[in-house]
Amino acid sequence: MRGIDKFKVCIDREDCIGDGACVNEAPETFEMDDDSKAFVLEESTEDEEMILDAARSCPIDIIKLTDKETGEQVYPEP
Ligand code: SF4
Repeated sequence: MRGIDKFKVCIDREDCIGDGACVNEAPETFEMDDDSKAFVLEESTEDEEMILDAARSCPIDIIKLTDKETGEQVYPEP
């Protein structure tokens, strides 16, 4: 299953510091815009683990992953 089908991926973009850590971990799922803020690419084919690693790599924990099926927050762990 594509990670993007498993997880709803939300970024608190206002707080993004533009270091690109998420893009390094999952370049098909995260991209930087012209203001150096990350955004999500819904057409990503990367798996769950890559997206989870990207969320974990964010130094300020602003990437939130929610299980689309159960509605549970997967990351950051509640
Ligand atoms: S890792 Fe976090 S702070 Fe860094 S670019 Fe991605 S969302 Fe922004």
